Amino acid sequence: MSGKKIKAKGSPLNELNAKILELIIGGQTVIRLNVGEPHVTTPLFLIEAGAEASKMESNNGYTFVEGAIEIRESISEFVYKMFTLEYSLDEIIFTSGAKQGIDLAVAATLADQETKPGYEIIIFASDWPTYNAIIRAHDGILVLVGPNEDFSLPLAEIRAKITKNTRAIIINSPNNPTSVIWSNEELGELAQLAIEHDFIVISDEVYNTIILEGEMPVSIASFKGMKERTIIVNSFSKMWAIPGWRAGFVLAINAKCRDMIAAKSNIDGNSCSLLQFIIKAAIDNHFEDSLAFIKKSNEEYKKNKDYICAFFDLWGIEYVPPKGAFYVFVKLPKKFGVNSEECSEILLQEGLAVAPGIIFGETCDDYIRICFATTTEELIKAMNIIEKLFIQKGVVKIE
Ligand code: PMP
Repeated sequence: MSGKKIKAKGSPLNELNAKILELIIGGQTVIRLNVGEPHVTTPLFLIEAGAEASKMESNNGYTFVEGAIEIRESISEFVYKMFTLEYSLDEIIFTSGAKQGIDLAVAATLADQETKPGYEIIIFASDWPTYNAIIRAHDGILVLVGPNEDFSLPLAEIRAKITKNTRAIIINSPNNPTSVIWSNEELGELAQLAIEHDFIVISDEVYNTIILEGEMPVSIASFKGMKERTIIVNSFSKMWAIPGWRAGFVLAINAKCRDMIAAKSNIDGNSCSLLQFIIKAAIDNHFEDSLAFIKKSNEEYKKNKDYICAFFDLWGIEYVPPKGAFYVFVKLPKKFGVNSEECSEILLQEGLAVAPGIIFGETCDDYIRICFATTTEELIKAMNIIEKLFIQKGVVKIE
């Protein structure tokens, strides 16, 4: 037996979700606001695209690891039409969800680690926990920054923590868990730092079509000099309400893609070939339907956001104002006298599952994350459960 330490650490969000699903299978009624899963019905155009793609016999063989030429052509057109991003076929990889995209991006960033150990990747102390686990799994060194009080981009701290070993930073805007969107000015300043200190930005853009306040943000890759030092990770999971399909993509210059393709070739090789052609059919034949679906889903998320924010305002409870994605990060008042796990447990006893802030970092232990991608009916029931807790804890309504 080698003495190598086992670094694999399960995703706490997946573990929590499994626990909730077990409770439901066991007969309990639980409102699942713990998981970032769109509640809207999978759009019909995807079902049609599925029927179109499955008729073609040629879609069952291995494809290029980075995806068939046809899907990369469609994605190239799609990202240009949707986000004004120009990527050619050899700058695109079709991945098994964005999660795999992050893994490949980190693997590529740390690719020559063996000869130059000690590479550092900056992430935020309030972050989706998978970044942390993936960096560890690839032997990278984590450097934590932030959060600022208002969860704005902590540029001064990032600047202070850059060293000669800094290889990359992972950013996510719109953000999970806070739903903040970083401004173009903040991203521009970060781009300047990346250029000055020669590091990569891994930009997780999975929520970039779920915009509830203001304009769709630009990708940091759009700033001058940034395409060559950005790896964009995205997926159709949230955009088209198909998180279980595992359809994602990565955009980067060819040299970076080569390293990511090498990493992917030893994991799953190509991602599901049939899925590639379903997504292709959806992009090619249903682009307008896709725009309509995104618009309609966002109207629903925005309605829920307004409802949930009005509820917390009424009770004078602080939260981070959501601008994109579909989460509200709620601050637990000191007088509750419970940490985020204890609070989540109390709510679960009453039939409401939320994600405790501690999952996103120790600095977030006085927050809970509530996903508001749900029906109005469920949301009302959930707020009734929270209201009961407020009354128990002596919180009074603002009249
Ligand atoms: N990045 C963030 C910030 C996420 O919240 C999630 C899913 N919750 C992902 C990536 C993973 O997306 P996918 O389902 O496409 O792998």
